[in-house]
Amino acid sequence: MIPAPFDYVAPSTVDDAVRALAEAGEDAKIIAGGQSLLPVLRMRLAAPTSLIDLNRIPELRGVRDDGDALVIGSMTTHYDVQRDPLIAEHAALLAKATDTVADPQVRHRGTFGGSIAHADPAGDLLAPALALDTEMVVAGPDGRRTVPAADFFEDFFTTALRPDEILVEVRVPKHTGWHAHYEKFNRVAQAWSMVAVAATVRTDGGTIAEARVGLTNMSSVPVRARAVEEALVGRPATAESIRAAAEHAAEGTNPTVDGNADVEYRQHLARVLTGRAIQAAMAG
Ligand SMILES: Cc1cc2nc3c(=O)[nH]c(=O)nc-3n(C[C@H](O)[C@H](O)[C@H](O)COP(=O)(O)OP(=O)(O)OC[C@H]3O[C@@H](n4cnc5c(N)ncnc54)[C@H](O)[C@@H]3O)c2cc1C
Repeated sequence: MIPAPFDYVAPSTVDDAVRALAEAGEDAKIIAGGQSLLPVLRMRLAAPTSLIDLNRIPELRGVRDDGDALVIGSMTTHYDVQRDPLIAEHAALLAKATDTVADPQVRHRGTFGGSIAHADPAGDLLAPALALDTEMVVAGPDGRRTVPAADFFEDFFTTALRPDEILVEVRVPKHTGWHAHYEKFNRVAQAWSMVAVAATVRTDGGTIAEARVGLTNMSSVPVRARAVEEALVGRPATAESIRAAAEHAAEGTNPTVDGNADVEYRQHLARVLTGRAIQAAMAG
């Protein structure tokens, strides 16, 4: 189908984009890679009066080193995240999760910030963003503010972004030397996650010193598996400790029921995939 008519603006700075968004009013929409928005427009499930295109704003692209953190511009494509040496070194969990997103075409157009702003509970970058304690930097008419990932995802496809705000960049605390793995379970290759687990672990000798685990599609928002993390820390990095900790993975989750899986099956998957994710992280 063909989308409903809309005005189109392609600013070249963040300030101009914020201004354009304010001028266009509440029925305007940001477009990034268009991989999630365009299908919605074509099916006329949304009919924004204006589209503000971020593709011509150079300052929104790329990854930079900022001391204790990496800063990822919201318009950095999945493809560029996958290949970035800073991300590979300091936030391997993000690269591993991005490897599982869709297919090469989608990864060349789709953006890191677009995925975060879209907030699909089955999206693969939300749980890693939560597990890594990232912060979202957003720009609006009153300037910039920073929202921790734990407060950013509010509900299905709903974030703390206000209608007049743009996600500018994501700050990722460095996790240098941490083991990482993203274990995704989907019905067919290149599909969204039925359930997935983002795990990253720091070891000290043979002991697990720190652990961060995030769950994809186990609630309307990404979930931090705190009970698993607590069960891992201070334990020897053995298959037995990992198996015991993974048993806690479904605690506090509230997954939806759909044609793919009911609650019990998703909770079973969370436990199994958590064990696999941590094992694979340690082996990597
Ligand atoms: C065939 C297919 C398979 C896919 N499979 C997967 C998968 O397996 N895993 C996965 O995680 N994703 C998957 N995706 C989604 C893909 O990752 C998209 O790239 C992503 O969801 C949206 O990114 P985008 O840059 O295309 O955003 P767009 O589609 O342009 O925008 C999405 C939404 O976010 C808003 N938005 C975008 N950027 C900003 C910003 N900077 N500030 C404020 N609001 C913003 C838009 O207004 C819109 O509401 C798939 C997509 C397709 C088409």
